[in-house]
Amino acid sequence: MTDFRVAIAGGGLAGMALAHHLHRHSLDVVVYERDADLVARNPGYRLHINSTGTTALRRVLAPRLWDLFVATAGIPRQQVRHFDEQLNPGPIHDTHGSIGVGSATGDAPEHLVADRSTMRRILATGLEKEIHFGARVTGYRRTPDSRVTVHLSNGESDEADMLIGADGINSAVRAQLLPHAAASTWAHATSPRRSHSPRQPNARSLMNCTRYSH
Ligand SMILES: Cc1cc2nc3c(=O)[nH]c(=O)nc-3n(C[C@H](O)[C@H](O)[C@H](O)COP(=O)(O)OP(=O)(O)OC[C@H]3O[C@@H](n4cnc5c(N)ncnc54)[C@H](O)[C@@H]3O)c2cc1C
Repeated sequence: MTDFRVAIAGGGLAGMALAHHLHRHSLDVVVYERDADLVARNPGYRLHINSTGTTALRRVLAPRLWDLFVATAGIPRQQVRHFDEQLNPGPIHDTHGSIGVGSATGDAPEHLVADRSTMRRILATGLEKEIHFGARVTGYRRTPDSRVTVHLSNGESDEADMLIGADGINSAVRAQLLPHAAASTWAHATSPRRSHSPRQPNARSLMNCTRYSH
């Protein structure tokens, strides 16, 4: 274990995948996740993972976790048919060559469909000591010796050599570092609570949502 300490805000897919990678390279890593535990929130149902994602996961996960991930994932359909609002069939979208810059990973298919909850449990496995649940990051402060103090909502703080903001679309870390960077509108539009928001998505942003329809 090196004495270079990395703090990660957010124990979602990105934060935990990165934590595995750093942990396997003997870095001192700590993940601060605001959820009370892995079942405090329904993370949604399934996720289509293209070759970029499967290649990255293969690299960061320990072999036994990768095998578990593949064993619990499904194989997506090669073709997706779209329907209009009258349920008239539209064009068929061929997902076979869909976006992704990874490459085939052994015997496993390049594209997989994973249950988010299962995937989150697999990603949390092996990081039991590193993930701190119920720990919401509220902000950070740079220290004079080029380290960073991470502030948590319970009033505690931690010091690290590096802070990674993997705390999702409404990232507190990004809000402090890049206060003028706004989250994309279509993600807001997917929240029922925001359905009357004046920030309606435009047609192009809704089209982007179809990348995830399967
Ligand atoms: C409807 C929908 C469908 C999608 N389908 C797909 C798909 O099929 N395939 C695909 O590849 N992508 C899909 N995506 C995108 C995918 O969900 C995101 O790219 C992915 O979840 C991003 O992972 P992340 O770890 O960066 O963020 P998140 O998954 O959002 O994780 C962020 C984590 O940080 C935690 N957190 C937040 N704030 C704080 C804080 N202040 N302090 C501490 N912790 C905090 C959260 O609790 C969460 O656990 C979809 C997105 C949507 C909205």
